[in-house]
Amino acid sequence: MKRRLVWIGACLMAAFSTVAVLQSAYAATGCRVEYSVTNQWSTGFQGSITVTNLGDPINGWTLTFAFPDANQKVTQGWNAGWSQSGATVTATNAGWNGTLAPSASVNVGFTGTWSGANPSPASFALNGTTCNGTAATPSASPSSPAPTTDPWSPPSDLAGPLDRVWAHQEETYSNLYGFRNYGWDQLVANSGTVNYCVRWDSTAHVTAAQRDAVHATLQRQYQKWMDQMLDNGQGWNGWPYRQVPVKVVGWAVRDRAQLEWTDASVDVYVNNIRENAPQCGEPCGRFFHQDGNYSGCPGGAAHHYDQSLWLTAGFQGGAGGDWGQRIGSEYYMSNLSAENVHILLHEIGHTYGLDDFYDWDPTPGRGFIMKAGSATQITEFDKWMLRDFWRHLKSRYGL
Ligand SMILES: [Zn+2]
Repeated sequence: MKRRLVWIGACLMAAFSTVAVLQSAYAATGCRVEYSVTNQWSTGFQGSITVTNLGDPINGWTLTFAFPDANQKVTQGWNAGWSQSGATVTATNAGWNGTLAPSASVNVGFTGTWSGANPSPASFALNGTTCNGTAATPSASPSSPAPTTDPWSPPSDLAGPLDRVWAHQEETYSNLYGFRNYGWDQLVANSGTVNYCVRWDSTAHVTAAQRDAVHATLQRQYQKWMDQMLDNGQGWNGWPYRQVPVKVVGWAVRDRAQLEWTDASVDVYVNNIRENAPQCGEPCGRFFHQDGNYSGCPGGAAHHYDQSLWLTAGFQGGAGGDWGQRIGSEYYMSNLSAENVHILLHEIGHTYGLDDFYDWDPTPGRGFIMKAGSATQITEFDKWMLRDFWRHLKSRYGL
């Protein structure tokens, strides 16, 4: 995603992934597509598509195209995740073929049905860029694959600001539509649950009661974001989850003696140091195993963690990204019973892709949680920014 290495206001927007930050914000894009019908019979056919990357390296891709005939339907496919909405077909990379070096190709295929005529699609787009066989540095934002049924209905006074926020993200995120480790991706991969590691970056001791309170607070705050996806208890725009269970599977500390419990309710990682702070084991971490392969994790996938709650003594402000959230340990421990742990809420927003607003304000004077320091709870504007991410990404999940 993007990276801001300077401290501004209350939040450091940390890198989303070590791979993504190598990409320029203005990456050259371009692609070539070869489409062929490799087999056809009275009601069905088999299609083959070879995509060649003519631009900068790609980490995560989505191929979109439209069938010219209303009766052309994909029924199943391979080497990609396939979905179709109306005439629009979306293929997203599999776990093992998401990286495309310059000039590299990937072949995907599908079987489909047809009747009457079986014309080839006229145009293909890779991560929103039309594949015309040449490389270009786009001056305009790539368009997202548009859902055909779109219950987008923010309050009228927020619609314009929300459009400007999305356009700003399209301009400034290097891989907005291709990035595959948003909180959304993690939640869907887990069928609606999220696992955490607590990185206890402090010399303080923790009682069993405090451990349980840390967990309960995290659950409550996390659900505050998840509630934004519900209208009267029903998921908005196909959102499939109501209550999202947050499970703390591990604690990472420098010294086991800091943890004043003896039960085995969580995995404990002792003196496993990364970034000068304790960390749960990398074989168990989603950030390090985005293919979902936790075969190296003791206890297997059930003990994996998607995000880290990184609590650092003396730390002011916060940081957030696909890896989790980092805030001060004293701040967190003194807010265990707070209704809104607002720095944590802000950082969880980053995990779901939401941006910072240090240099501009889409809703002057109103305040919202993602504009650090301007609100202490999630607002209607935050809610619709969150929903905007979901409506732009949901096609990748076939939901
Ligand atoms: Zn921030």
